Amino acid sequence: CGIVGYVGTRDSVGVLLGGLKRLEYRGYDSAGVAVIGEDGGLHTAKKAGKLSALQGELGEHPLAPGTTGIGHTRWATHGGPTDQNAHPHLGDDGKLALIHNGIIENFHDLKTELLAEGVVFDSETDTEVAAKLLGVEYARTRDLRTAFRNVLGRLHGAFTLLAVHEDEPGVVVAARRNSPLVIGLGEGENFLGSDVAAFIEFTRRAVAIGQDEMVVITPDEVTVTDFAGNPVPFEPFEVQWDA
Ligand code: GLU
Repeated sequence: CGIVGYVGTRDSVGVLLGGLKRLEYRGYDSAGVAVIGEDGGLHTAKKAGKLSALQGELGEHPLAPGTTGIGHTRWATHGGPTDQNAHPHLGDDGKLALIHNGIIENFHDLKTELLAEGVVFDSETDTEVAAKLLGVEYARTRDLRTAFRNVLGRLHGAFTLLAVHEDEPGVVVAARRNSPLVIGLGEGENFLGSDVAAFIEFTRRAVAIGQDEMVVITPDEVTVTDFAGNPVPFEPFEVQWDA
C-alpha cells in the first residue's frame, strides 16, 4: 500500500502514477487518484487490480488536467478489493477526496453516528468514515485545515491520511499515526509520500514526519503541527540512495 501527494505546476496525474509505480513493491490490490482540475472541480478515478487497470481507465476517461492531486494504492483490510472500495473516498458533497493507509479502529462507532445523521456511504471500508466525517466538519467550518484537525481528534488506530478539497485548490492536508509519512521539498512544488521512493525522481530533500503530526503543503509552503495545531519544527535531510 502506498500514498503520494502533489502540489505545484506539473500535471499531477503523471506525478502520482509515477510515485505509485515506485511504491508498488509495498504490495496492493487496488489504486486510485484524485485531482483538482483547472476547471475548478474535483476529479477521481479508481480501480481494483494493478496500476495498469487504473491507467487503462484513465486512458479511456482522462481526468481534467490539474496541479493538485493525491494517489493511493490499497491493501484491503475492511471491505473486499473492489472498484467501489478503492480509494479515494469522497465527502458527501462530492467536493473533497481522502485516501488512507492503515486501519481506523473505531470506524464502526463513527459510522453508526454518521448513518444516524443521514450520511450515505458508498463503500464497505473503514476509511470512508474519515472522508464523510471530513465532509461534515468542512460544512461546519469551511476551512480544510480546521476540519481535518477536528477529524484527527476523533480517529483511533493507524493512519496515513491525505485529503484535498476543490474549494481550496493548491492545498493538500495530511497526517500520520502508527503509519509512515514523508514530505519531499521542491521549488514551487511539494510532495508527500509513504516513503521517499514516491518522489525521488523530483527531489532528494525530504522531511520525516513524526508520530501524531499533521502536515499542510502548498506549492510554496510546508507546515507541520501536532494534532492540536501547535507548530512542530522540522529538519530536512538529503536522501542518499540512488533511485
Ligand atoms: N483500511 C483501509 C481499507 O481497507 C486502508 C487499507 C490500506 O492500508 O491500503 O480500505
